[in-house]
Amino acid sequence: MKVLKFGGTSVGSVENMSNVKTIINDGKKKIVVLSAMSGTTNHLVAIAQDVKNGYANEAVDKINRLHETYFVTIDNLLQNEPLNNLVKTYVSGIFNFLVECTYKSHSESLENQIVAQGELLSTFMFNSFLNQEGIKSALLPALDFMKIDEFKEPDIDYIRKNLKTVLEHTEDSDIYITQGFICLDNFGEISNLQRGGSDYTATIIGAALKAEEVQIWTDIDGMHNNDPRHVDNTNPISNLSFDEAAELAYFGAKILHPQTVTPVRLDNIPVRLKNTMDPEAHGTLISSKTSADGIKAIAAKDGITAIKIKSARMLQAHGFLKKVFEIFEMYQTSIDMITTSEVAVSLTIDDDRNLDKILPELEKIALIEVDKNQSIVCLVGHSIVDHQDTYKLFQILQDVKIRMISYGGSKNNISLLIDSKDKINTLQKLNDYLFELVTL
Ligand code: ADP
Ligand code: ASP
Ligand code: MG
Repeated sequence: MKVLKFGGTSVGSVENMSNVKTIINDGKKKIVVLSAMSGTTNHLVAIAQDVKNGYANEAVDKINRLHETYFVTIDNLLQNEPLNNLVKTYVSGIFNFLVECTYKSHSESLENQIVAQGELLSTFMFNSFLNQEGIKSALLPALDFMKIDEFKEPDIDYIRKNLKTVLEHTEDSDIYITQGFICLDNFGEISNLQRGGSDYTATIIGAALKAEEVQIWTDIDGMHNNDPRHVDNTNPISNLSFDEAAELAYFGAKILHPQTVTPVRLDNIPVRLKNTMDPEAHGTLISSKTSADGIKAIAAKDGITAIKIKSARMLQAHGFLKKVFEIFEMYQTSIDMITTSEVAVSLTIDDDRNLDKILPELEKIALIEVDKNQSIVCLVGHSIVDHQDTYKLFQILQDVKIRMISYGGSKNNISLLIDSKDKINTLQKLNDYLFELVTL
């Protein structure tokens, strides 16, 4: 069985939903994971923010406007009157629930319930659309089997067991449709897999069922060699290893949720990235195979904080780094990059929620400097640290102010820390020279 995930744009219009219908209607058994229609989760986040700030009227306005746009989409999607009415009743139930949320006092749980509604809407609408088109499909409620544990990691044994039970109790169908992104937490409350989490849902399901393949269908023809939102002349990469894809996703390639390949790499389940608007395009195949050496792709992650920890003769004082790491561990903050010298260690974090607690602890043992608004630019490719062309990188970057560099941590990754304001320029320069568009 295959697992196919369709993102926000793929279910974002009637035309694209028709493309999805054609792609999945091949008579083979599959699980289809859907995101919310594009823009919906952003709206829900804004509504939750209004509720948090006590702006109930603004929240209700936003809810009513979104409700109207859904009714227009439903009229375009469903000409079958009973189905049209059924879906409108369901959708109104969700929007009424959202209005009720605006009367409640804010909590994280309320916020999670609000942002979860997008995937419930899209899956119900799309399943009804397939029924209208005479295609047999069944809904699998994600909240009946998707669960994260106390560390916010997928509880794979629970998921496998419950998904099996849900499948056994659902009428036999070729196409099973479920919600991406949403899950229960270890208290049984509604939670989610973080923004972009539908990709992760698909590979978690793929791993739970030992699927033959996971396909991520989106609005672009696969993983490009640089960020197409900021850089001109990027190209799709036809093959990536799990390691390469994991590095790119973790370091900011938005096409994949950072954890997407984690569940499937051990079982060697391939992940194929495909374009819903151009299904014939090859896309990207992520598998255990490694192909050509050298720099393959570049990604960048924003919102990074750099911390310099300075102490005289630090490296000779054994146990110093241990103390530093323990402080970050105590506040459950993971470190991305790290460089050391005799008198200082510099490191980066992307989650600065506990920074105000971490800094006083660090100040007890050293002098501290903090730089916010940094970006990690990550270059990925098989064995790039050994590759004959990698020296070019240093020539190219002679005009860019590099705050830190990480080389050799893995053979497949070189990371640079730069000020975020230099990011677009750096990405474009690297693209032009490394991918030989301009010769040095
Ligand atoms: P979906 O809603 O289908 O999950 P996303 O918006 O999450 O789609 O991801 C697809 C988008 O990721 C593309 O439209 C593209 O702008 C962006 N993107 C960023 N970096 C890359 C990259 N290296 N390769 C391809 N797409 C990328
Ligand atoms: N709808 C969620 C989001 O916008 C999950 C996803 O699209 O993958 O983040
Ligand atoms: Mg996405």
